[in-house]
Amino acid sequence: MLHHDIIIIGGGLAGLRAAVGLCERYDVGLLSKVHPLRSHSIAAQGGINAALGNNPEGRDDSWEKHAFDTIKGSDYLADQDAVEFMCRDAPSIIYEMEHWGCPFSRFPDGSIAQRPFGGAGFPRTCYSADLTGHVLLNTLYERAVSLGVKVYDEWYLLALASNGERCQGIIAFDFRKGEVVPVQAPATLFATGGYGRVFRHTTNALINYGSGIGIAYKAGVPIKDMECVQFHPTGLIGTYILITEAARGEGGWLTNNRGERFMQRYAPKVAELAPRDIVARSMQTEIDEGRGLEHPLGKYINLDLRHLGEKEIQKKLPGVKSLCKDFVGIDPVFEPIPVMPCEHYSMGGIDTNQHGETVLPGFYAAGECGCVSVHGANRLGGNSLLDTLVFGKAAALAMHEYLQGKSFTGDTALLTSLGKTWERKLENLAKGEERPAHLITKMGHTMSENVGIFREKHKLQQALDDLAVLKERYRRVGVSSPNRHLNYALMKAVEIEYMLDIASAIALGALRREESRGAHYRRDFPLRNDKDWLKHTLVTLGKDGTPGVSYRNVTITNHPPRERIY
Ligand SMILES: Cc1cc2nc3c(=O)[nH]c(=O)nc-3n(C[C@H](O)[C@H](O)[C@H](O)COP(=O)(O)OP(=O)(O)OC[C@H]3O[C@@H](n4cnc5c(N)ncnc54)[C@H](O)[C@@H]3O)c2cc1C
Repeated sequence: MLHHDIIIIGGGLAGLRAAVGLCERYDVGLLSKVHPLRSHSIAAQGGINAALGNNPEGRDDSWEKHAFDTIKGSDYLADQDAVEFMCRDAPSIIYEMEHWGCPFSRFPDGSIAQRPFGGAGFPRTCYSADLTGHVLLNTLYERAVSLGVKVYDEWYLLALASNGERCQGIIAFDFRKGEVVPVQAPATLFATGGYGRVFRHTTNALINYGSGIGIAYKAGVPIKDMECVQFHPTGLIGTYILITEAARGEGGWLTNNRGERFMQRYAPKVAELAPRDIVARSMQTEIDEGRGLEHPLGKYINLDLRHLGEKEIQKKLPGVKSLCKDFVGIDPVFEPIPVMPCEHYSMGGIDTNQHGETVLPGFYAAGECGCVSVHGANRLGGNSLLDTLVFGKAAALAMHEYLQGKSFTGDTALLTSLGKTWERKLENLAKGEERPAHLITKMGHTMSENVGIFREKHKLQQALDDLAVLKERYRRVGVSSPNRHLNYALMKAVEIEYMLDIASAIALGALRREESRGAHYRRDFPLRNDKDWLKHTLVTLGKDGTPGVSYRNVTITNHPPRERIY
């Protein structure tokens, strides 16, 4: 058994930012199924929002305006006090990263460069070319390691250990040695990222199974607003690799098979820079109504950057250029990029407050796996990187307060017994006949088909029925090799149980929410209904093993819901 004051699961931005806030005072362990620098945060391209007012067109920006844009973008489902907390903290979070050595792009006067992004009233997205996640993550990783965090890379989280009153730590799996290892810790933080791979078509990394969310749910912690799933407008055709929103922020156009910039019809004032929910729906409508383009890999829309010119593309979007060349053989300097909308971001997640606290004392969550909620029913581009840093830091402060001046005796008997249960579970997993890869493919298919951009009752019910069948099949899951050592299929078999729970919570929340709000669009209930639905969905595992759904009112401070026009 391992012991730490604090165990953090996740080496992305949220986990590392929390570690940096704690390492000097505590013995912190950080566990990640891949090397921290391979976390999905590394793939973030476009940027991170803060009202710095550096862009000449953004001089009048303020954190209050950032907060308003975020709340409007969320279609009024975000908790406004939490949004204010995040936007007020944003400038100091950016300057802190700058002082720690993060190489942001600069304006000629030396200030941090800022670009326009969707749904934002001012150009407030700070960036480093189109490698923003890369530079932020490297900066924090170096800092966390220099402060002495103990990193366990290529270790898996299997389960949360709770005695019902308090979190006691986790059950982990050392992937290289193939051993189950209980980790005792008075405070545990999940920073396990999003669940994109629950869908078939996603911009998310191959590791983004979201199992942390499912593990919290299994331990009795509610998960919130799971039906709110973001679909990004511009996934590269066939591969679904993200083409950053910065491409539109820098002036890129979306055109249909008539060469028309159709977004001007859907969002007359801002066109391509409308929030993602609106752009994704508009693109899908163009495709569904026959104005998409044809490709052997599917129907698509053109993202045209040619008018920006080679110099600008090379300077501001070099990653986009190389992704297009490497994966579809297209040079965006000379040809439009074929794109289609696909799953991108998990707005919902583990229910927390602004301090990362959950209902279970000693258990915290931050970053994409958590839901504070600051993104509500639709996240604005550039706000997620901000969320990871603001709430990673806030969770670190909350854990410090929780631990300060107290001594905890860990329930080692519970951890030992849970460890043994997992030993047996892994042994049994080597015996079943259902292959995890088949189950994941089926799940992804029904989710992308039935719980996508446009939803309706019978399709959501179909998804729930399909998932019930898959859960039944999961009881017979098994892998072909009993080896524990570096057995990816075995870990897949573990994680898919949690993914099925997540997928069911998404479909169930979507079926129950009989309105359209943000990214959740019901063809059978096309209007937003504030009278009945200005509330968060909470899904909690019942004692009988079935999900229970309850609701909580949204916190409104300064912005009563208004019609959302762009
Ligand atoms: C392609 C792409 C581009 C993006 N661009 C932007 C952008 O420009 N601006 C913006 O604001 N947002 C962007 N986002 C969103 C943003 O990058 C993410 O929301 C954010 O980085 C998530 O950070 P995180 O720390 O919460 O999780 P992640 O970075 O996803 O890290 C999760 C960590 O948890 C670990 N983990 C998960 N499960 C387990 C387990 N069972 N056992 C052990 N370890 C586990 C992983 O190994 C990993 O270390 C983008 C997202 C994508 C997919």
